[in-house]
Amino acid sequence: MNEELIRVENLKVIYKTTDEIVQAVNGISFTLNKGETIGLVGETGAGKTTTALGIMRLLPERTGKIISGSITFEGNNLLELSDEEMRLKIRGEKIAMIFQDPMTALNPVMTVGEQIAEAIRYHSEKINESEIGKRVDEVLELVGISSSRKHEYPHQFSGGMKQRVVIAIALSCEPDLLIADEPTTALDVTIQAQVLAMMGDLRDRLKTAMILITHDLGVVAQICDKVAVMYAGELIEVGMLEDIFVSKEHHPYTIGLFGAIPNLEEDSDRLSPIVGLMPDPAKLPRGCNFQDRCPYCMDVCKENNPKVYVNGTHNIACHLFSEKQLWKGDNYE
Ligand code: SF4
Repeated sequence: MNEELIRVENLKVIYKTTDEIVQAVNGISFTLNKGETIGLVGETGAGKTTTALGIMRLLPERTGKIISGSITFEGNNLLELSDEEMRLKIRGEKIAMIFQDPMTALNPVMTVGEQIAEAIRYHSEKINESEIGKRVDEVLELVGISSSRKHEYPHQFSGGMKQRVVIAIALSCEPDLLIADEPTTALDVTIQAQVLAMMGDLRDRLKTAMILITHDLGVVAQICDKVAVMYAGELIEVGMLEDIFVSKEHHPYTIGLFGAIPNLEEDSDRLSPIVGLMPDPAKLPRGCNFQDRCPYCMDVCKENNPKVYVNGTHNIACHLFSEKQLWKGDNYE
């Protein structure tokens, strides 16, 4: 369980348009061990999906660019591999990704069985057709779909079943890392719970590590070992699940995230949303990116980027921790 699978260090990604440079990911670092699940949490535009696309080397060709950092996966820096090596040896086979909307991820004119078989055929040259057929049946059963339905088309499946098919395709080559980008957001709540339970069960049985991208802290609590909170392209708080859900010390943004979900034990009429908007990633402010929305903002926050403060497995990037002298400062870069 403690063998490191992937190490992302100081990753920076930009999108370049004719008018501006968007700083989408600004020097993030994290590690994930084999079989572990990390939840990448934050609001829309925080850089979560860009981080995933960077790891997969699937950024839009004309505009997206990784400008620094390294992504060490099973000892190889993915940023140094050729496009062909990424396509043939890493994507699908070692690292698979599932996207938010299962309908757009599936081909409407191919049966689900053919779509799973195609993924297996692409990555395993030596396997014959009867073995592929057997594997298709196995992965469908694995995600809770009867193999007798392999000749059906995506429109014959419900939303939750379609997402199971997408997960079956992703798992068909037994990847070591599964990146799931909001895998349950397009599903209704009861189906969400089923799909999440199934993903947790698969993770336990197959020992697949997962990066789960979500804005839902409930989903994180249900399935993750580690949590990384992202804001304006930076990781502002990282810790094990209990660091985030049990500890009393948090980044003000994380406090805001928890305030924005209902607490059934408290009698309050309204939720407390985080006031304001995330800064324009093409015009990030000097100092802390959260300064305009932060109730604790100090002069130093407008001048200097916060360092990362470390307490065991719990990291927080906020000047409050220097002021309160709570934790030892650690210059993460
Ligand atoms: Fe708020 Fe300052 Fe901490 Fe940023 S560094 S979150 S502005 S207290």
